[in-house]
Amino acid sequence: MTEEYQGSFSDFNLKPTLLRAIERKGFEHPMPVQTAVLEDDGLLDNDVIVQAKTGSGKTLAFALPLLNIADAQEREPQILVLSPTRELAQQTAREFAWLGADLGVRVATLVGGLDMERQIRALRDGAAVIVGTPGRVLDHIRRGTLRTEDIHSVVLDEGDHMLDMGFRDEMEAILEAVGSVDRTWLFSATMPDEVLSLAKNYLDAPKKISLVADITAHSEISQRAYIIPSRKRFEGLTNVLIWENPSRSLIFCGTKAETQDIADRLCDNGFRATAIHGDMSQRERNNALSALRGGRVAILVATDVAARGLDIDAVSHVIQYGMPQNLEAFVHRSGRTGRAGHEGSNLILLTSREAHQFKGMIAHSGSKLKLEWMPAPDAAEI
Ligand code: ADP
Ligand code: MG
Repeated sequence: MTEEYQGSFSDFNLKPTLLRAIERKGFEHPMPVQTAVLEDDGLLDNDVIVQAKTGSGKTLAFALPLLNIADAQEREPQILVLSPTRELAQQTAREFAWLGADLGVRVATLVGGLDMERQIRALRDGAAVIVGTPGRVLDHIRRGTLRTEDIHSVVLDEGDHMLDMGFRDEMEAILEAVGSVDRTWLFSATMPDEVLSLAKNYLDAPKKISLVADITAHSEISQRAYIIPSRKRFEGLTNVLIWENPSRSLIFCGTKAETQDIADRLCDNGFRATAIHGDMSQRERNNALSALRGGRVAILVATDVAARGLDIDAVSHVIQYGMPQNLEAFVHRSGRTGRAGHEGSNLILLTSREAHQFKGMIAHSGSKLKLEWMPAPDAAEI
């Protein structure tokens, strides 16, 4: 780790079973966002907006204080965490599961594309923590399989994205069904002004904790932009791959079709690659992610379905193949590397026309993002 963390988890009023779980996991010091949330007892009585950079430990920052007040005897759902993607929901549920195991707290993962019956059984078995994607959570609420009466805490992870257009109707319906709760917490690395003002409709006088001044400032990530020839974009990509020789990388493309196409062509060219996007079944998506996690492939080509929240060990390179939709998307994509104080590289590959557009996007946002611009290596150099 490049960053020195200080303090100890035992400085806070955490249940011994939680401290034991953290010790078993080998986490020695709380990360700054975890300290910021844990040391403020008042947060439990408040709605909160927390902004901290990608990979800075936000999951534990909400999971720890909420599990600490969970009642293990209670048989009804108490904590509801909403995530924008199925993969992130599954990952967050696993975090709650290892943390809460000794407490006797059960976790149900409610995501689309997976077996409904199993989810209903998990709910019947008395899950205290529910982690899910908005569509499936709403589905369970409407069927009456998810009881919301005893939910006291709601977390909107990647909260800015949860409140933007794609999710807003479902979010509204869920929050209305859940009714009044003791706390609604919104976490993200990015928090555009429009979302902050929108958040007023859902949060009650939220306290704000912000650990980032500039969303694009991330000292653990080295940022490089390669100019690739517009008629030979794919060749530009393979040349950069050979030149940079990443041990494990995520390549972001603009569309599902392009994602699949690039993955196929990389395989044809001898790279160990696979794809993840929304046209695949959930089983295929999970398989693709575990292929990268388990080292069976070295490259995962992805749409923005993998841009938010996913924590994959030792991603050495994020490669953005073409323009991101906006600067928030750029930040979340790049944040799949350089996690928990480790170092990583974020490369963006643009044609000269796109480079011009992208510079405009950075200038417009007022960000101090520093990119090193260079031409893509050509085959003769490699
Ligand atoms: P974020 O949500 O801010 O992007 P995550 O919650 O996914 O970040 O955490 C990033 C990584 O840091 C994960 O691999 C997580 O297990 C690890 N982590 C979290 N807390 C600690 C800690 N206190 N010490 C060491 N590693 C930690
Ligand atoms: Mg997160």
